[in-house]
Amino acid sequence: MDIAALGTFFMGVAVCFTLSTIFHTCANHSKDVWIFTNQLDYLGIVIVIWGSSVSSDFFGFYCDKKLQLFYWTVATASAVGCGIFTLTSNFRSPAYRLVRFGVYSLLGLSAFVPVIHGIIINGWQAQDQRMSISYFLGLAVLNFTGASIYAARIPERWYPRTFDLWGSSHQIMHVLVVYGAFSHTTGLIKAFDFWHARRGIESDLNVKIVIGKVTRFVQPANCL
Ligand SMILES: [Zn+2]
Repeated sequence: MDIAALGTFFMGVAVCFTLSTIFHTCANHSKDVWIFTNQLDYLGIVIVIWGSSVSSDFFGFYCDKKLQLFYWTVATASAVGCGIFTLTSNFRSPAYRLVRFGVYSLLGLSAFVPVIHGIIINGWQAQDQRMSISYFLGLAVLNFTGASIYAARIPERWYPRTFDLWGSSHQIMHVLVVYGAFSHTTGLIKAFDFWHARRGIESDLNVKIVIGKVTRFVQPANCL
């Protein structure tokens, strides 16, 4: 299950960059192809956000299966809603700009609320060990900076045609997203190590002596 949690995030990253590659390769074909593949590009973002949330919720609520399931459901429901909306033809129309902003904000919130909830329950330090909040924040800051640079069209808005080949906002955004994925990967591996080290220590402690022979508890206590 722990490997599956890591795999979900890696799968999200792989799908995201595959869809992005399809967009960048095919976008110049025709207007229709541009519109469709651009929707796929956005869908990739939805999938990678979903993968980030599901994996960090797994480690953040490792011992609380109810909360884990609840936040998985919230993340999945908002991702599916966002995905369906992304693929509808209304998606790109200016009239839907606010709705677009709303559904993507909801998806972002579905990633953040469990982190805040975890800090409220366990405190910053303990929750940081469980789900590597610092690296999760690294992912959030890098992605948010990338999205802002992209939305504000920096730097080409100040120097039109200068950054058409290299250094455009879209490229800067992609580089920051890659570093964001590295940050989250590091965080997930640290969380994985934390729980596995914990499991090792706990199972060593769970040795009891029963009438002269050493017996291990069948189930090691994995939780704090
Ligand atoms: Zn792109």
